[in-house]
Amino acid sequence: MPAVTTSTAPRPTACPGLARIVAALDGGICRIKLPCGELSAEQACALADAAGRYASGVVDVTNRANLQLRGVRSGDESALTQALIDAGLGPDGRSDASGSTDQTAQSSQSATSLAADDVRNVMVSPAAGRDPQASIDTTPLAHDILERLRTDTRLHALSAKFALLLDGGERLAMLDHPHDIWLAAMPSAHAEAPLFAFGLAGCPPVAGDGAASCDVTRATLAAVEPQHAGMLVAALLHTFLDLAEPDMTRMRDLLGVRSVDELMRHVESRIDFPLVCHESIRAWRRAPADASLRLGAHRQRTDDLYHVGGQAPLGRLNAASLRGLAALARELGNATLRMTPWQSVLLPDVPSRHVTAAIDALSALGLACRSGDPLTRLIACTGSTGCAKGLADTKADAMQLALRLPAGVDVHLSGCPRSCAAAHCAPHTLLAVAPGRYDLYQRDALPLQSGFGCCVARHMTIDEAAAHLSRQPWSPIDA
Ligand code: SF4
Repeated sequence: MPAVTTSTAPRPTACPGLARIVAALDGGICRIKLPCGELSAEQACALADAAGRYASGVVDVTNRANLQLRGVRSGDESALTQALIDAGLGPDGRSDASGSTDQTAQSSQSATSLAADDVRNVMVSPAAGRDPQASIDTTPLAHDILERLRTDTRLHALSAKFALLLDGGERLAMLDHPHDIWLAAMPSAHAEAPLFAFGLAGCPPVAGDGAASCDVTRATLAAVEPQHAGMLVAALLHTFLDLAEPDMTRMRDLLGVRSVDELMRHVESRIDFPLVCHESIRAWRRAPADASLRLGAHRQRTDDLYHVGGQAPLGRLNAASLRGLAALARELGNATLRMTPWQSVLLPDVPSRHVTAAIDALSALGLACRSGDPLTRLIACTGSTGCAKGLADTKADAMQLALRLPAGVDVHLSGCPRSCAAAHCAPHTLLAVAPGRYDLYQRDALPLQSGFGCCVARHMTIDEAAAHLSRQPWSPIDA
């Protein structure tokens, strides 16, 4: 048995949370973590009310399918947090779910609950349970893991950035964001139900991805039967806490000092079921995903129901558009919204007779529903209007670039090297160096290349960048 450090103190974090309102140039930031990206229409209205009453009304969709309120007013932080908990947006869901009227019991529950807020980082496809290509619905497993994260207080020592991916094999899936732990459904030759393959500090391997075969961050370690997946995740999380030094926040930090074999031996000492480990599992690749399915209408697994989606321009909504989305979900869908890791919004369960009306209504709210729209190919961080580190107004510059963006080109604008808007390496990145000036970086053929790629031009204006991108030969990376 390897030596253990049993680190259980919470990792310090500067990330915003439900009760950790982080100061920025434009006021406080409050982040609301959504289980499986889901928000009821009622919660969306409560959130819109809170955004108007206690903050600036700006609501950002994050690249982890969560929401973030900006411009929280000084002195209103506690009232905002309480309003969000009252709307069932805390880790416990509805704060009055127990029916308790005991104020002491409720505040004690809130304290425990808020300690669990940071670790609610489980991503699934926004079409989980609905995607016709998926081999399993990952939402029950996601809720099982979220409940373990909420109730096992030792797990509250994980970093607020420690994140898990559950991949059910959907066509609509984000596979480029590295996760500390990933599980992906893979067909089993011996059983009707798929197995869950898993890996650490990376992403599931994808068929046709030339880099996957030699990339350790896409290596499949083993697989488990679906009924063991929740216990496997618990064992992996505890293994991290057993072996990681207190200053290590991510799985890649631990893998820098301990071998995968050492970690797996530790995991196996914590479980009483077998890991399935043979060559066919290591060679397995999941089918490619299609991010364009987040836009427009697409048939779900159930006949006559569609999910209909639109891109929030640069990931930004406001209180009024959020209320409009809530009304749409009630009128045309199933009264819920799904946020996506592309910073877009999905209306699930729209009957075919309402599809055209849903697309028209999303467009009227300012969301882009066609993949040809340049706003679906641009991401930008908060930039200098809201962030002290920003060297340029990335949001305004991105809107200017949208007017001239060549077809098929995806661009990320970042106000500084921290790259808050992109958890992956975008095909092209404009990195701000001064107001209205950017260095242009281009990714090469390695999908998981770190950083922004190679710098191909310096100190460009937005017009110069647009002209440069228009002159580039079409690249398969941009497909
Ligand atoms: S990337 Fe830099 S400028 Fe942009 S929001 Fe993050 S820290 Fe601020």
